[in-house]
Amino acid sequence: MNQSHEEENGQLGNQMEYRRLGQTDLEVSVVGFGASPLGDVFRRTDPLESHIAVHRAIDSGINFFDVSPYYGLTLAEERLGEALDGRRTEVVLATKCGRYGLDEFDFSARRVTESLDESLTRLRTDYVDLFQAHDVEFGNVQQVIEETIPAMRRLQEQGKARFIGITGYPLKTLVQIAEAIPVDTILTYCRYNLMINDMDTILMPVAHKHGIGVINASGLHMGILTDRGAPDWHPAPREVHDAGKRAAVFCRQQGVDLPQVALRYCFDHTGVASTLVGMSTRNHVSKNLEAFRSRVSPELVSQVRTILAPVSNYVWASGRPENRDSTYSLS
Ligand code: NAD
Repeated sequence: MNQSHEEENGQLGNQMEYRRLGQTDLEVSVVGFGASPLGDVFRRTDPLESHIAVHRAIDSGINFFDVSPYYGLTLAEERLGEALDGRRTEVVLATKCGRYGLDEFDFSARRVTESLDESLTRLRTDYVDLFQAHDVEFGNVQQVIEETIPAMRRLQEQGKARFIGITGYPLKTLVQIAEAIPVDTILTYCRYNLMINDMDTILMPVAHKHGIGVINASGLHMGILTDRGAPDWHPAPREVHDAGKRAAVFCRQQGVDLPQVALRYCFDHTGVASTLVGMSTRNHVSKNLEAFRSRVSPELVSQVRTILAPVSNYVWASGRPENRDSTYSLS
C-alpha cells in the first residue's frame, strides 16, 4: 500500500469503477464521498482543505456525493455546495430530508417539500440526483409510507429530484417500508463492514427482489475502524471501541492500515453500488483511493475479523421503540 509517485504529487489516475444504482440510470463510483465530516460532525474541519478534498475526489473519479441538511445543521450542505460550484454536472448528488437535529424530525409532505428547496439553494443547484428520507426509524412508518414518499415522488415528477430513497439503521424498518411502497434506493450504515454483516441476510434479498439500489455507509464503523477511533457520541459500547483499537494495533504491526483493510473489504461487495466513506481531507481521499486499488489477503481479513469477533454483529438501539431492530448483547 505504498503511495505512488503520482499521489505524492497530488494527482491520482482515474481508475475508479462505477456500478449502476439499482434500476436508476445513475452510475456511481464504488468509492462514495460521505460529506457529513464537512459539517464538523467528527471534528472541526478546515473549509479550504475540504474544498480541495472534494476537487481531488472528483479529479480522481469519485462521482457520488452524499450529504444531508442534518450534517452540521446545514453546514455540510453549504460547504459541499460551495465546493461543487462549477462542477455540479460531474457528480451524482444525494441529499436527504426529514432529519434536522439530534431529536428534530419532520417527515410531513409540507416540510419535505420545503426542505428540498432549501437544500437546492445551499447546494447551488436546481436538482439532486437522489433525494432520501433520512433516518426513517425516527418517524412514524405509516406516515413515511403514505405521506413522505408520495411527496418525494411528486418532487421527482417536478424534476427537482431524479430518484428517491430511504436511509436508516434498523434493517427491519427499511425492509418494512421497501415492501410497502416502491423506493429507488436504500442507504444503511454500520450494517456491513469488518464488524458486522447482517445487511446481507436481512436487506439484500429484499433489495434484490425489488431492484433497489443499495448504498452502504460507514465502512469504518463511523470511525471505530481507524487508528484515531470514534468520537464520544458514537452509540457503540466501550467494548466495541476497544476491539477496534486492538485491530488497529494488529494492522500496524503487520505494516498495513486498518481503514484501508476495512474499506477494501466493503468495496468488494458487488451487491453494493457505492460505499460511502466520510472524508474531508486530501490525505483521506488519497488513502481511500489507494485502498480501492489495493488488494488485501483473505488471511489478513480473517485475522482482523478474529480480533473483532467478540463484539461483531453488535446492534444498538436506534429510533422509535417499535422501529428498532432487536439488539444483540455482547455477552
Ligand atoms: P465512516 O465509517 O465513513 O467514518 C468516517 C470517519 O473516518 C471520519 O472521522 C473520517 O475522517 C475518518 N476517515 C475516513 N477515511 C479515513 C482513513 N483513510 N484513515 C483514517 N480515518 C479516516 O462514517 P460516516 O462518515 O458516518 O459514514 C460515511 C458517510 O455515509 C457519511 O458521511 C454520510 O454521507 C453517510 N451516512 C449516512 C447515514 C444516514 O443516512 N442515516 C448514516 C451514516 C452515514
